[in-house]
Amino acid sequence: MNDELWTRPIVFCDFDGTVTQTDVTDEILTRLADPAWRDVEQEWVRGEIGSRECLERQMVLVRASARELNALIDAIPVDPGFVDFCRFVEDRALPFYVVSDGFDYVIRRVLRRSGVDRRLRNGQHLCASQLRVRGRRALTRFPHPAAGCEHGCATCKAGVMKRLGRGHAPVIFIGDGLSDRFAVREADLVFAKHDLLQYCLANGIAFEPFRAFADVQARLGKTVDSRQSKVESRMALGVS
Ligand SMILES: [Mg+2]
Ligand SMILES: [Zn+2]
Repeated sequence: MNDELWTRPIVFCDFDGTVTQTDVTDEILTRLADPAWRDVEQEWVRGEIGSRECLERQMVLVRASARELNALIDAIPVDPGFVDFCRFVEDRALPFYVVSDGFDYVIRRVLRRSGVDRRLRNGQHLCASQLRVRGRRALTRFPHPAAGCEHGCATCKAGVMKRLGRGHAPVIFIGDGLSDRFAVREADLVFAKHDLLQYCLANGIAFEPFRAFADVQARLGKTVDSRQSKVESRMALGVS
């Protein structure tokens, strides 16, 4: 897109498979749930149920203590450029939100390990599903329903982006998977990898491919920093 249109960028980012290198929810289900979760997954892949119903039905199949769950979460690798990216958006005062169908319990723990959990609290800069562990059961709640969500989303990324992205340009989205298929339609600039890249290709949605946060940062840095230096030199010259 035209760099002159970069007036008030805002950045939305998926969590599972984007911030982390694997999908944590899938790992939890694969290792700690009754295998029937896969049948539910197929219903979701086929578009027969939304992600809320999908996750509700899958998470009741999990049997694990908090300790087992924590051990699994602590072994999940994070994109090596993510912490740097958080610093990048903070230094440039770019609004940045993590939007996820995944669970706050997991996300907060991963962010804490990376030292970037200060601003990303659920309901503020993090919109995600809620998970609490009681005994060996995983209890879910979905605090971010969207008025008018037709997709049955756990967290309606499209709804969150529509609400928070108002007045911003460009609305930027970074993601990797099928759970981002509605979000990309609300974005002006999409960074896509893996299944999301295939989805964008198949559906004629413009995107920029990326492998890691370092790629996204390099791309955004070029435009954001050149605009910033133009604004500064205009101010130095007394031009408004
Ligand atoms: Mg994902
Ligand atoms: Zn939705």
